Amino acid sequence: MRLSKLFTKTLKNAPADEVAKNAQLLIRAGFIYKVMAGVYAYTPLGFGVLENIKAIVREEMNNIGASELIMTSLQKKETWEGTGRWDDEVVDVWFKTALKDGTDVGLAWSHEEAILEMLQQFAKSYKDFPVAVYQFQTKLRNELRAKSGIMRGREFVMKDLYSLHASQEDMDSYYNLVIGAYEKCFERFGIGDSTFMTFASGGAFTKFSHEFQTICDAGEDVLYINDDQTIAVNEEVLDDATQEIGVDKSSLTPVKSAEVGNIFKFGTEKSEKMKITFTDKNGKEQYAYLASYGIGITRVMGVIVEKLSDENGLVWPESIAPARVHLVSIGADEEADKLYQDLRDKDISVLYDDRDARAGEKFADADLIGVPHRVVVSNKSLEKGGLEYKLRTESNSKIITHDELFKILDI
Ligand code: ATP
Ligand code: MG
Repeated sequence: MRLSKLFTKTLKNAPADEVAKNAQLLIRAGFIYKVMAGVYAYTPLGFGVLENIKAIVREEMNNIGASELIMTSLQKKETWEGTGRWDDEVVDVWFKTALKDGTDVGLAWSHEEAILEMLQQFAKSYKDFPVAVYQFQTKLRNELRAKSGIMRGREFVMKDLYSLHASQEDMDSYYNLVIGAYEKCFERFGIGDSTFMTFASGGAFTKFSHEFQTICDAGEDVLYINDDQTIAVNEEVLDDATQEIGVDKSSLTPVKSAEVGNIFKFGTEKSEKMKITFTDKNGKEQYAYLASYGIGITRVMGVIVEKLSDENGLVWPESIAPARVHLVSIGADEEADKLYQDLRDKDISVLYDDRDARAGEKFADADLIGVPHRVVVSNKSLEKGGLEYKLRTESNSKIITHDELFKILDI
């Protein structure tokens, strides 16, 4: 990507009404555009980060045998009436509208009921089980407060996975597989060490559900953890959960956290309400077991910004950065052009600052944008024998050769 041609622009200031650090930085660095509170467009750099997060999740979901699909944003009222969740008193985030003929429709805030209704047509016999399907989908929620930037959007991207089973044992064992896949995702995003699977309030089927909570000052939740970080409980179920697992709640310390994922066993609760059945081996009608599993894709991006950025700007982990290398030319375009081509030939993603701008501006923008490896080509660097190299997370640069750069990048 040549910065001179890329649709982006860094800004001196974020909009005055933006209070969240993640959104302020992402707007200033040219990754997102604020349409209104809780509603953000993703410009190419931001889109690149989202796609990288999605690619990791997609790989891990495919590894546990789930298939990707895409549901719709317009939903039928009847789909939600069966479980009582069309009611605004029950679900207070609905955006609803009507077709020209007056038919009520809802804008998808979740796809649980919608997917279950669809799956019924595909899973009629025990032979059709288990089913595991997922999507990356924009959810629309009329959230009361949207002050956390992309961590709480009125429009946001979620990965939602649903699994349907013929027996409880099968649901339980798939649930455990998903836990493993989630742990890999958070590890690969670079927040594995600060993300915990926690006891959260449950539902009809089990006493507790599980959430994945990342320690983060900008988070809206509170997590109680023990010293060696082996126990993590959400504040809302503290008494219940500590009793259940037999720990003294005074041994747990509260920390602020953000819910980045939520996994939930419904058992047969929803299929009973929606009359979703299949025929078992003996030809008998049975209710299907359902579990659902979410990851907040855009929230993960916001949490990473909140946790890793510094006073100079964004800091991306290599796995999700919009590019691996930020190449800056300071009056040495010919040499920089050549290096740009060499790196691209090796499939390295490069953000190349080929703009006609002052060196100071280019360096400040490189820090603000936060790509991991910064490489400067200038007459000075060439005189000293090569390239000026600096990691975004370090303050000192050093001169390295072309070959040394390739070694650092593992090519
Ligand atoms: P919260 O308690 O934060 O409102 P939730 O319980 O409504 O979350 P789910 O419906 O389980 O969340 O959605 C699954 C995941 O989607 C959450 O774990 C979170 O990471 C993400 N998420 C939920 N609401 C939002 C939002 N408004 N903006 C961004 N991400 C969200
Ligand atoms: Mg919510």
